[in-house]
Amino acid sequence: MSTLVVVDHPLVAHKLSLMRDKTTPSAQFRTLLREISLLLGYEVLRDLPTELRDIETPVGPARTPFLKGKKLVFVPILRAGSGLLDGLLDLVPSARVGHVGLYRDPKTLEAIEYYCKLPEDIAQRLAVVVDPMLATGHSAAAAISRLKGRGARDIRFACLLAAPEGVAELARAHPDVRVFTAALDTRLNEHGYIVPGLGDAGDRMYGTK
Ligand code: URA
Repeated sequence: MSTLVVVDHPLVAHKLSLMRDKTTPSAQFRTLLREISLLLGYEVLRDLPTELRDIETPVGPARTPFLKGKKLVFVPILRAGSGLLDGLLDLVPSARVGHVGLYRDPKTLEAIEYYCKLPEDIAQRLAVVVDPMLATGHSAAAAISRLKGRGARDIRFACLLAAPEGVAELARAHPDVRVFTAALDTRLNEHGYIVPGLGDAGDRMYGTK
């Protein structure tokens, strides 16, 4: 589990507690998810390379850091991953966006792909794969395998909640991928839901249950 980063911040913890509350309505849930994605993105992209450039401030000359132009792609896993996308795009508006559509077979909990659209130059980009819930880890591992199959080599995964089982599965399948989460929960239940978790993230976002 050495690749796991828990983004431990009072603002994140507070917003996450509001999201866990089953009485929180969908509109507020989506707003909170977007806000947390900004705070997660801040940590996921903490080591982006910068370069010094000469500029003139109103007071005089200065050498100041600018992003060095590392190309990025954000890859939400559909459907719930899209809830983390807008906050990340607020941080890096020029990033490309890929999509991987996966659903969980309710019996086997295996990930089944139904959609994949990625930028052609993904091999030259830092890819940040996002999904709010890292539960069994099957969807995340399958999405990352798909990206690697297209040539991606520099990959990170960001989620809102992780279960120890999902973290272990991702570390086993993709030990090179760092995982960023707002919290590490206790376990999975017999239906593959994170405990205590927040329920089905997609349903909570879109009010489909
Ligand atoms: N997916 C969800 O939306 N919630 C869980 O608890 C696990 C997987």
